[in-house]
Amino acid sequence: MTANPGPGLYLHLPFCSSICPYCDFYVLTGDPARQRRFVDTLIAEISLCTGGRWPVVGAESPVEPFDTLYLGGGTPSILAAEELTRTLEALHRALPIDDDCWISLEANPEDVIPANLDAWRQLGVCFLSLGVQSFQQQNLDFLGRRHTAEQSHRSLELALGAGFHTVSADLIYGLPDQSREDWQHDLELALALGPQHLSCYQLTFHHGTPFGFRKERGELAELPEEAQAELFLLTHRFLAEKAFEGYEVSNFATGPEHRSCHNQKYWDHTPYLGLGPSAHSFAGHHRWWNRRKIKPWETRLEDGESPVESSEHLSPTDLAFERLILALRTADGLDLESFRSVYGVDLLSANLEVADRLQVDGLIRVDSGCLVPTTRGLAIADTLARSFDITE
Ligand code: SF4
Repeated sequence: MTANPGPGLYLHLPFCSSICPYCDFYVLTGDPARQRRFVDTLIAEISLCTGGRWPVVGAESPVEPFDTLYLGGGTPSILAAEELTRTLEALHRALPIDDDCWISLEANPEDVIPANLDAWRQLGVCFLSLGVQSFQQQNLDFLGRRHTAEQSHRSLELALGAGFHTVSADLIYGLPDQSREDWQHDLELALALGPQHLSCYQLTFHHGTPFGFRKERGELAELPEEAQAELFLLTHRFLAEKAFEGYEVSNFATGPEHRSCHNQKYWDHTPYLGLGPSAHSFAGHHRWWNRRKIKPWETRLEDGESPVESSEHLSPTDLAFERLILALRTADGLDLESFRSVYGVDLLSANLEVADRLQVDGLIRVDSGCLVPTTRGLAIADTLARSFDITE
């Protein structure tokens, strides 16, 4: 499956069985009754979009049907199959959705049982993303995960046998004192099971999380930057040797047909609509976001009002810079001619010295009309993007 031209749809389903100490998403715990109430409210938000009305974009509202749907969170797999079914039925009633819509669901290993796998397949999920994080018990214990190393293995095996087009495993690296060998062992254990996609994230101690507080108290230290960079390069080089294409900073696939079609929309400024507490949306020159916490989000909807908290209008320069930064986080890089025609900036001519220096330093190359980061460039994509002047 390749990138599609229609807009994308994101649903934020915020429930988790417990909150991991490093998580900085908007998540909460809640029993099935609370989850049912949440779905009722989400359906109310979906209904506000009936007829394909987007809350903020005015004349920029896309008319094509949605061709990707990302069920994220939180842990969408915690919701009962009937709640997910109700939600999808409401989406189909309210919004134009392509018959071939690419649907992705995030699942935690403890929810991966044959009955759930069947239900997710029935819903049309083609990309199942498993929050494995590690196959080693000591790492899972440190990360505060509820599942065991045995469940990491078993869930991936079960998912791979269930007939999804793509099964992805999320892994975390850069734990304090983690060695190259320890991280490579996790990658080897993942590859031995044969997923078509991997997402490998560096552990970050975000402010406001339990790990963040422990760091601020001096009880926990992040892996030094140099060691983090080494693990990043190891990840890309090791997976490339095993025929996994690193198509984005954190994402790897065995072929283009197994890439995340939905995430591609974030990277190339295709419009997307986000529903649920804290969800963000984008179209044309606008970005907007919902109330972050569930209570105010629910209160607005119970009053029949939009839960959008705020929006921003992006100037052509803002958009051009975002496009550059996002493109330099991908292995495809930036198509220079398309950038010139959309944003009116001839990037290389306007930045001859910078581009030369970055090429000599082995951080970028120009390939078939695209500005492409090398693997070392990918590691510092944001810094690379900031080196360029995009004001004409
Ligand atoms: S399972 Fe994922 S979303 Fe839920 S608390 Fe843990 S890291 Fe956050």
